[in-house]
Amino acid sequence: TANDAEWAYHGGEFVKMGDIRLSPATHALNYGTGVFEGIRAYWNESKGTLQVLKLREHYERFEKSCRILHLDLVPSVDELCEITLEILKRNAPREDTYIRPLAYKAAPAVGVNLRGPTELSIFTVPMGNYVELTGLRCAVSGWRRSSDNAIPARAKTTGSYINTALAVDAAHRAGYDDAIFLTQAGFVSEASAANIFIVRKGGLVTPPVTADILEGITRDAVMEIAEKDLGMATTERDVGRTELYAADEVFLTGTGFQIAPVTEIDDRKVGTGEMGPVASRLQELYFGAARGENPDYAGWTVAVEVA
Ligand code: PMP
Repeated sequence: TANDAEWAYHGGEFVKMGDIRLSPATHALNYGTGVFEGIRAYWNESKGTLQVLKLREHYERFEKSCRILHLDLVPSVDELCEITLEILKRNAPREDTYIRPLAYKAAPAVGVNLRGPTELSIFTVPMGNYVELTGLRCAVSGWRRSSDNAIPARAKTTGSYINTALAVDAAHRAGYDDAIFLTQAGFVSEASAANIFIVRKGGLVTPPVTADILEGITRDAVMEIAEKDLGMATTERDVGRTELYAADEVFLTGTGFQIAPVTEIDDRKVGTGEMGPVASRLQELYFGAARGENPDYAGWTVAVEVA
């Protein structure tokens, strides 16, 4: 939950969250015409630093999302990174923190279009583990992933999270931890807010970027660690629903989810029904890199000294 006393960026300046006022007529609130990012900063107790993970990569994706929605973002990627580091310095949280940049159509006007002015807001909230990390129970959703020619998942748009919310809500009401989407064509797409990997025949498999997924930054990070440290290549290809049931391991990847093993899908055990060795090893390596403790991945994080 956001705190009114914290610093944020809004209207081109650093302001306290509690001082931000938004009209209910704001275009994005009415029509979902906004894009956002989710970035994690990990607290490193021994260094006294926040390690901001993949900062630049998130703002590069943010720019692409903006382009798709005709949002005119004024700051450059470098400036967005600087603004974010300044918010963290001002708030100085000594705990794992989530950073939420949001660019949106801001006109207080009725009428659906993609013209009108863009506003940029960036705020932070504390965030520990978003989901449990030892084994999730998932179900394939009856809600299909919105397709690239309807509401493109490649752009991280506020409006597309209606699709997510419907699927997560149905999964939770049925007693599952998360939902797995299929594409309109019936192939595996992604989870609610995470990409999906399966382990089959000693290799990793993940749906391709044409499977109506968000092109996850953690997805890329996991492919890199798997290749370098586990000697495991990842194949990007269409994945059939029942491959999920036949897989040795299934896990979800995302900034919020981190690396979360799925131990049950549609009331069937995945592999042994316990977290598998590949997910377990990837988790360990990922957290080491994310907290700035693995020199091989020093380039993944930017350190912010917290007084
Ligand atoms: N898919 C969706 C729909 C998401 O919301 C997220 C979380 N941003 C992801 C995948 C994972 O992306 P990333 O690894 O960049 O956080």
